[in-house]
This record gives sequence, C-alpha cells and structure tokens, in this order.
Amino acid sequence: MSIIAFLYGTVLASFITLCADRIPKHVSILYPRSRCDNCQVQLRYWQLIPIFGYLFQLGHCKNCHHHISPISTCVELIIGLIALHAPLNHPLQLICFILFYGFLLFISLTDLSHQFFYSTGLLGLLPGIFIFESAKRWEWQLGCVMITTLLFLLLLAHLTNGLGSGDIELILIFEILLGFEQTMWIICISSLLALFTILLTRHQSRIPFVPFLSLGFLIVTQIFYYM
Ligand SMILES: [Zn+2]
Repeated sequence: MSIIAFLYGTVLASFITLCADRIPKHVSILYPRSRCDNCQVQLRYWQLIPIFGYLFQLGHCKNCHHHISPISTCVELIIGLIALHAPLNHPLQLICFILFYGFLLFISLTDLSHQFFYSTGLLGLLPGIFIFESAKRWEWQLGCVMITTLLFLLLLAHLTNGLGSGDIELILIFEILLGFEQTMWIICISSLLALFTILLTRHQSRIPFVPFLSLGFLIVTQIFYYM
C-alpha cells in the first residue's frame, strides 16, 4: 500500500510540475507532450516516468546531452514521501490532503520558475483545515493570527520590499492551520534555507520565498505530526 501511495504521489507531483510550468505561459496542460527545454525534441514515455526518467538518463537529455535540472525529481521524491502519510481510509480527508499538498506545490513552483504568485491558489489550501488538528482551536487561532499579523506589519515596516504579499498570505494560512509556535518555526527554518541558498548560489536579485516557506512547512509538519 505504501509503494502505491508513493507512486501516486510522484505522478501527482509530476503533473503539477507540468501545470505550474504551462499555466502561467497559457499553454495547454494536455497537448503537446513534454519536450526537452534545450533541443525541443519530444520526450519518450520512459523519459516521463517520475524519478526514474531522470535516473535512467543520468541527469542529461538523451538526445542533446544537456543537463536536466534535478528540481522536478526532488519535488517528485518529496511529494512521494508525503503521500506515505495520506489518510487512505478516509475519502473526504484524502481529497483534502491531495488538494492541500497539490495547491501548495503549485503556488511554490509558479513562484520558483515564473516569480508569479497565484493568490487564488491559496483557496486550495483551505481544505488543510480538515487535515491539521490544531486548525480546530479557533479562539486560540484568532488571537495568534492577530498577534502574528501585527508582528509582520512591524517587521515589514523595517524591511524594504523583503517579502511579497503572497508570502504574507501564505504565512497567515499556516498560522490558521498550525498555530503560532509552529508558524514561527516555519519562518525560522525557511529564512535559514533561503539564506543558505543565497550564500551558496551568490544570488543577486529577488529570490522567490514561497518555495522556502513550503519547504519549511513540510519540515515542521513532518516533525510535529508524524515523528
Ligand atoms: Zn535535449
């Protein structure tokens, strides 16, 4: 059962990666079939197999030997591992689980590859209310949301264009779902990850923060919920 959940997770991740690449460019998600970014040759079916397609090609296009970014394969692996925790015996929760992680991945990838944030994609995160236990303590959550909002407004007043509006909306949703303490951990971990990335890649321009927030969210939820 675990293997099937993992495989479904990798296929879903592969499909959402394609959606996040094509939808901002107004290209159909059904046609044409995927191509190599460099030589534009249509990929064969075995090259499209999540994770293994990359491994079989040893990270290089079979046709032009151009280096293939490992990001998609990493995403497939991460979502495959998350799918191991899918509530398979509860159909409603399972739908919420797929919607939540699907949309989280979508908004992260569009921010990463197009620096474009789909605010409407945040609506897809609301089914998370049915997944995370702490989301049910509304009185406590309301207080936390207000405090965190205030803290962020103060923080923003001191930073110059450090965060985009999408980042703040996403943080507030994490706040509603997980509460104050875990959201603070998410901000801390994602900021550190972003800082390391800037130092390692010597990135000069604005880096998309939504993917780092999502990564921080995954790390914190894995620690608090499943360990
Ligand atoms: Zn190629």
